[in-house]
Amino acid sequence: MSAPESTSVSLKDRNVVPDSEPLRIEDVNLLHDFIDKSKKLVVLTGAGISTECGIPDYRSPNGAYSTGFRPITHQEFICSSSARRRYWARNYPVLKKFKEAVPGPAHTALASLEKANRISLMITQNIDRLHHRAGSSPVELHGTVHIVTCLYCGFSISRESFQDQLNSLNPKWAAAIESLAYDSNSDKSFGMKQRPDGDIEIDEKFWEEDFHIPTCPKCNGVLKPDVVFFGDNVPKDRANMAMEAAKGCDAFLVLGSSVMTMSAFRLVRAAHEAGAATAIINIGKTRADDFADLKINARLGEILPRLLNTGSLSVPAI
Ligand SMILES: [Zn+2]
Repeated sequence: MSAPESTSVSLKDRNVVPDSEPLRIEDVNLLHDFIDKSKKLVVLTGAGISTECGIPDYRSPNGAYSTGFRPITHQEFICSSSARRRYWARNYPVLKKFKEAVPGPAHTALASLEKANRISLMITQNIDRLHHRAGSSPVELHGTVHIVTCLYCGFSISRESFQDQLNSLNPKWAAAIESLAYDSNSDKSFGMKQRPDGDIEIDEKFWEEDFHIPTCPKCNGVLKPDVVFFGDNVPKDRANMAMEAAKGCDAFLVLGSSVMTMSAFRLVRAAHEAGAATAIINIGKTRADDFADLKINARLGEILPRLLNTGSLSVPAI
């Protein structure tokens, strides 16, 4: 399968963090005051904080799926075994990218603010666990790629252990995909090609006929990554916890999200309607701009670390 002609332009668009104006000291001060005034601050983070660490934004209109890769829907995953094979066969390089990424200065600054009790609850839309690796433990609204769960009995295993089983069930595939790490033009027996953004193309015949997926070690059921796919809902307990926090906070801060998903939009709207002050830091427009008392276009890795030693926050970096 050859790449579409527009690929080089699209890759350029989606692999860099969008351009933003140089950081303004007024914005640092405004954000400082916003946080300093709050007694109960809820923070919602989105893809923007991870793109600064080299993780492509898979969900946005400019994300990796926009050049021909359509994200799998919940229904497809549940109903079609070939869709599941296709998902697992092609998802490995994405996982690899997640594992290689390291938390950025924005993740670290947030962990410092949390440790200093400046944040009441952190909620993330990201599935990469970079916040965890920086020392935070946010509510993961859309789940995580690092856990795999049985659709029938709910038993969970780590993605790493799932991946080991997947590799041993499909040794030729595992060898071929590993060789891609050294030679992106490598094209062994499966028609595999790695795209410059880390996604992978595989000859369709392969995952249609000859790809074996591990099943639940307890009940032999279907395993699914613990990620909320398009077309699915955020699990109730998680959604309720986030919603209660949004309704009960006095300040709601959105970081690096265009707030396009309904699950995120609902939270910002609920906080706003409950009378919380709302601030958004995002490069570009968001769906919740009308609710924002403060809107700043800035890179999170630049503005958040500056807060730590500003005014009365004086939070030690961890
Ligand atoms: Zn099971």
